[in-house]
Amino acid sequence: MTTTPELDPPTRLLLGPGPSPVHPRVTRALSAPALGHLDPALLAMLDETRGLLRAVFGTANELTLAVSGTGMAGMESVLGAALEPGDRILVCSAGFFGDRLAELAARLGAEVTKVEKEWGDVFEPEDVEAAAEASRPKVIAIVHAETSTGALQPLEGLGDVARRRDSLLLVDCVTSLGGSAVDLDARGIDLAYAGSQKCLGAPPGLAPVTAGPRARAAIAARRRPSPSWYADLELLEQYWGGARAYHHTISSPLVYALREGLRLALEEGLEARYARHRANAEALWQGLEAMGLQLHVADPARRVPSLTTVRVPDGVDEAALRVRLRDGYGIEIGAGLGPLKGRVWRIGLMGHGSSTSNVVLLRAALGEVLGRQ
Ligand SMILES: *Cc1c(COP(=O)(O)O)cnc(C)c1O
Repeated sequence: MTTTPELDPPTRLLLGPGPSPVHPRVTRALSAPALGHLDPALLAMLDETRGLLRAVFGTANELTLAVSGTGMAGMESVLGAALEPGDRILVCSAGFFGDRLAELAARLGAEVTKVEKEWGDVFEPEDVEAAAEASRPKVIAIVHAETSTGALQPLEGLGDVARRRDSLLLVDCVTSLGGSAVDLDARGIDLAYAGSQKCLGAPPGLAPVTAGPRARAAIAARRRPSPSWYADLELLEQYWGGARAYHHTISSPLVYALREGLRLALEEGLEARYARHRANAEALWQGLEAMGLQLHVADPARRVPSLTTVRVPDGVDEAALRVRLRDGYGIEIGAGLGPLKGRVWRIGLMGHGSSTSNVVLLRAALGEVLGRQ
């Protein structure tokens, strides 16, 4: 009998836009025996996980859980809960994921107003308020860490804008959660979603989501249920928090992994974790600039610490360099998207991947491949 070879994936250092390196403790958690989705031991872990998620999100929101699926499942779930056909949404987009929010909202039948900025820019609260005044949206949606551009959207003031305009503030925290402060409640964010595989150090497969009291009131006032049964936040809440009714068979190993990733984040301390992401990013930025490379986001205060966009120098084959990094050094970095395709590389220092040694290694490898030391 012939068989396919035993599993032996190549060793990669994941320094792209995600997934990020999985912490060894998370890998160990993943290999623990699976449990049934209604086993009291698993249900207790779900309780713990939502408590840990509340701490990392910075929220007291009762409805805080993890949707089965990747970050996009979180986006679908939260948008689907907030919007009914005909509802108005204002999407602030300065990148690929802002555009996706607008596309998804349109698929849900919402009336979408998109305000745009150059890829790499961020919005001022005044921009958002002016657009909201004109379009009177039910929801204002924005991306915190735009992974396509490396720009970090300041969130201060947006919650006040949303309250003044009687809108819900929805924030994509996929690349920020666990790497930069999201402080949901302090910033008046009503709805948010994230992913397990960026700054939380877990594999892809669960999407943390949360909805505050204003959002829940809006969800309760819907005329019809969410169009997605699988991603219906209210049904998921009945499984995670309510009657414990069977909804779907959640992957227990992924719950173990996310729980361990969150435990690691809180053990380190959120402030210390953000400072680590920041310090390693600054070391990377200095190293890249010392090599004569230019960063796409000029203002360091506006850069995402977990995701750096660096311009491809003239005359360098963007794709060939990534292949050489991968095949020669085992390092994965990302390519540009949309208008930045071919123009930037995207380097992630996320979660467990944000370390001094990874910065040194990447700098050295890039220097060799580019012939710049
Ligand atoms: C990665 C990412 C997503 C999508 O997450 P997936 O896990 O790929 O589904 C959404 N928004 C942002 C900002 C991201 O970085």
